[in-house]
Amino acid sequence: MTYSDYRKVFKQLKAKPTKMQKYIKHNAPKARKYGRSTKKCRRCGRPGGHIGKYGLAVCRSCFREIATSLGFKKYN
Ligand SMILES: [Zn+2]
Repeated sequence: MTYSDYRKVFKQLKAKPTKMQKYIKHNAPKARKYGRSTKKCRRCGRPGGHIGKYGLAVCRSCFREIATSLGFKKYN
């Protein structure tokens, strides 16, 4: 399943408050307890390539950038 933020349309709907209420009512995604949409990178917000190990909660590309400062060492 692909990921898209439903709030992107809010910019257009700000001028029409009643339509916005209707949009939120029918298009807001279900609040989930687990799954892909609950895990986002805490640094950039990317939903894919998530690393949750050791409580990192960052995506793979952010991990590459901050790994050395966290104390990870790349062998070979
Ligand atoms: Zn990230």
